[in-house]
Amino acid sequence: MARAIGKVAKRARVSAVLDRKLPAQLYAKAREAAANAYAPYSGFAVGAAVETSDGRIFAGANMENASYGLTMCAEIGALQAASSAGALKKIRRMVIVGGPIAGTTGPPQAAAPCGRCRQLIAEAAAVGNHDIEVWFADLDGRAVQRRPISELLPDAFGPANLA
Ligand code: ZN
Repeated sequence: MARAIGKVAKRARVSAVLDRKLPAQLYAKAREAAANAYAPYSGFAVGAAVETSDGRIFAGANMENASYGLTMCAEIGALQAASSAGALKKIRRMVIVGGPIAGTTGPPQAAAPCGRCRQLIAEAAAVGNHDIEVWFADLDGRAVQRRPISELLPDAFGPANLA
């Protein structure tokens, strides 16, 4: 009996892990971008990749500056690349991965988008008139979280407020 319960529990755990697997292609692009992060000051690399409704993918990595406050997040690069290609309204989902370049000995932690980036993602969702699915994880694709931007930034200020 105990053995049967153990099997069921193990199976449930496996499916939970599968449910939390990042979209493979988006993860690969975000991870590739993170490898090129310019983060000599924080040592924290981030890569982001957005996917449009017509299947295009745009990626970005964080870029720091000796004038620390000018640092740009990976999400900005990805969103701006999509916008520059005329695809801001078509973004449907994105993957963000980040973590210490030197690695970590602690438990895996997902790199959540910062407040500014949530606002930028919310703008893309507003102009596209749909929600955007945001996945975030550590560099190795662990500690995965999947949340709609409407949940990450509820009651967002947006284009409608200026109408
Ligand atoms: Zn940010």
